[in-house]
Amino acid sequence: MTALAAIFHQAGSPFTFETVPVRELQEGETLVEVICCSLCRSDLHTQQGLRNEPSPTILGHEILGRVIESRAGMAVGTRVTWGIAASCGECYFCLKGIPQKCGELFKYGHMRVSDEEPLSGGLATHILLRKGTTILAVPDALSDEVGSLANCAMATASAVIRASGAAPGDVAVVMGAGILGVTACAMLHSRGCQVFIFDRVSASLPRASAFGAAAIADNEESLRSIAAEATSDRGADVCLELSGQLEGVGMALKLARTGGSVVLAGTTTPVGEVAVAPEQIVRRLLKIVGVHNYAPADLADGLEFLRGHHRAYPFQDLIGPIFPLTQVDAAFSAAGQSAGKRVMVRPNG
Ligand SMILES: [Zn+2]
Ligand SMILES: [Zn+2]
Repeated sequence: MTALAAIFHQAGSPFTFETVPVRELQEGETLVEVICCSLCRSDLHTQQGLRNEPSPTILGHEILGRVIESRAGMAVGTRVTWGIAASCGECYFCLKGIPQKCGELFKYGHMRVSDEEPLSGGLATHILLRKGTTILAVPDALSDEVGSLANCAMATASAVIRASGAAPGDVAVVMGAGILGVTACAMLHSRGCQVFIFDRVSASLPRASAFGAAAIADNEESLRSIAAEATSDRGADVCLELSGQLEGVGMALKLARTGGSVVLAGTTTPVGEVAVAPEQIVRRLLKIVGVHNYAPADLADGLEFLRGHHRAYPFQDLIGPIFPLTQVDAAFSAAGQSAGKRVMVRPNG
């Protein structure tokens, strides 16, 4: 058996297409036919040369597929989503409860292709899921496209909200109205928080109210006054930085109330440094937490949220144009011009 893969070499070069043999499964592995793969912003950044990944590689990690064969106990034919990375379960970090930082982490869509691991990303007809990957069945009610959002945007938003400790009645500020931002907004709203969302540029900002935002702001002054009014000047209970901008980090630190929490998850590439007054962190009892990748429980939570709320919030509106695998270059161009939407590739038609 063989698979067709779109290979990324370097920014500015077109993808090449390679037919690769599908190797025999080992214990714990699952072969999945890719139904659809959405182009996440980090894929776009790699393709544009804004971040470096080992190459050649098969990009794409926000994926939904169907089980073709499994030595991990998955039933053939099941429509599935899975964790963004496989962890060993035995190293120091795995044993410390942060498998997303495993020393042997195998992150889908981010690995150099090799003879042993030729199928590691979503931009291919098939992907081979390694031992140590959390695999979950996708509920029938979810469309392929919306279901594909589960394992990056939804799971990451779940991880961020878990880290924030947000509780019903809290006032939350979300920096960044991209797909991660509006997803986090919907999750907070569904648990009874009042959410304010900030973004200077995102095309998603106007629709954030449909994802539960009580107010939107495109400048710092207006965000400050909205938050001050809602909290009698106390500051927000929870501030989430999901924009990836240095400005968002600084504002999150300023807007959190005494004893509030600040979760940073947007800045996955270097953005410079932010001035912090240590005395402020001490006196305001601030809790500052970083979130990168996510734990298996976050994927389950994200999928469950999507199952229960995919009609309450307009997730279908986040889906952009859909391309076949052979038009992956066009898909990336479209993604560059489709701010606030997820462009999809359906490798098997
Ligand atoms: Zn992603
Ligand atoms: Zn490990």
